[in-house]
This record gives sequence, C-alpha cells and structure tokens, in this order.
Amino acid sequence: MIQDIAPSVYHNEYSPVPPNENDFVFAFDGRTILVNISDGIISCPRVKDLSENERHDLQYLFRIDEKCDFLYTGASKLEVPGFSYETVTSFRRNGPKLMSFAGMTAYHLYVWYSANRFCGKCGSKTHITSKERSLKCDNCGNIIYPRISPAVIIGITDGDKIIMTRYADREYKGRSLVAGFCEIGETAEDTVRREVMEEVGLKVKNIRYYKSQPWGFDGGLLLGFFCDLDGSNEITLEEDELSIAEWISRSEITDEHRFLSLTEEMIMLFRDGKEPGKNPR
Ligand SMILES: [Zn+2]
Repeated sequence: MIQDIAPSVYHNEYSPVPPNENDFVFAFDGRTILVNISDGIISCPRVKDLSENERHDLQYLFRIDEKCDFLYTGASKLEVPGFSYETVTSFRRNGPKLMSFAGMTAYHLYVWYSANRFCGKCGSKTHITSKERSLKCDNCGNIIYPRISPAVIIGITDGDKIIMTRYADREYKGRSLVAGFCEIGETAEDTVRREVMEEVGLKVKNIRYYKSQPWGFDGGLLLGFFCDLDGSNEITLEEDELSIAEWISRSEITDEHRFLSLTEEMIMLFRDGKEPGKNPR
C-alpha cells in the first residue's frame, strides 16, 4: 500500500532542522501540487530550485530516511521552471511510491496548517510551535493538533460474492467498496453497520477488522473491515452518493489495481479467497 515504503523509514517525530539543498519542497495551491510528471515518474522541486527569499518560507514537515521534506508557505504561488500544478491525486497514478506517500502526507499537513492560521476559539492569529507538531494561539492559549478523521472501508461479503461500488461524484472512477467517515459517538463497528444500511440498504454480521491505512488525500485514517451479509441480499442504492453497487463474484474481479490503497488490497484479498474470518458455506 502507499505507506509501505520499506526499506525506507518515515520519521514522523517533529524535529525541525534547516533545509538542505536536496530536500524536497511541497508547494500546494488548493487541491493541486507543484510537480513534474514524466513517463509515470512524479517529482517535486528541491530546495536548491528556490530563491534565497523563497527559502525563508519553508516549514519542516517530516523526514524519510536522511532526507527532510518541507512545505512552502509563502504568500505568493511558487513557480519553478519545469514544474506545473497538478491534482494531488496524481500521486495515485504515478510513482515512485516513496514520493506518492510523501506527497499525500504533505498534503494532509498542508490542509491542516492552512485551515488553522487563525484560532477557532478567539479568532487571533496562531503560530507554529517549535517543540511538537502543533499550532498555538498566544491570546487564549488554545493549542491545535493535526486532525485525523477515521473512516471505514467495508468488504460486504456473501459467500463467493462481494459488493463493489462506483462513486457518482468523485475524481476516482475505479471500482471501490462501501466506505464512510465515523460519526461522533460511534464505534468503528457502528459506522460499518450504519454505512452499509445507508449506502446499500443491507444488514451485516460477523464484522471483523482487517488493517488500517493513513489516507492524507482526505485527511483520513482508513480502517478496513470485512463483514457477512445478514438476511436479504437485495441492494437499495443510495443514489446521491453511489452510481453503482453490485454483487461481484471472485472470478469476475480483474487485476486492475496498483495495490496503493487499502480498498484495492481488500478487493484482491477477496478475489484470492484470503479475507480474514471467511464464513464457510
Ligand atoms: Zn485563541
């Protein structure tokens, strides 16, 4: 999956250091990022591509192996010859995976930094603290930490079949699984039951956890679950959100995935009959 970058190691601890010439710079504009894409290889500008002035607007993000990644925070849009602004989901279609993971994670942090420039309690300007990854308001003392939104990915199975979906209004047009964000006051298992009922009108049982995945494109932490159909298999589609939801048998699943997302991994796991806690029939 996108976070599986071994033998490289992601160092999430907040230990800011000054930028080096060869460190990567992530510069965003809304949901686009400054990149160069050539023959399926995506790359970002390096510190050495920036002017002295532009280098003053670099915020330390994280480190992967010995190389640090920085966010460009300048007021004006960064322009670097040979690079152009492309949608952040370009990281899903281009490699290497190390760059895709770094870009996705940088985007998650960019969204958080840019949405919290002012304190939500008193409206004063916040500033970046030096000892931990947080923003602080000196007027009222409010400290703001990165926001991560848990969501579930659900493999709804009935023996040899699984429900696959397509979303009506998303950039990603491939086949997917039923999914949704956790609501306040819910367990992840409650979210599974609610989302399945809302999106396809079915009851499920034997809900079992599979794996998790950071998914910075939506600021999320995805929790993968498989579950079994309980009762009628007749799908009632929530048409506002989904364009298609249908039962697909293992043999109909084609090998069309890059194994970047938890959804893709779960679909292929099911195809190969290896989903956890399979209900024998
Ligand atoms: Zn405040």
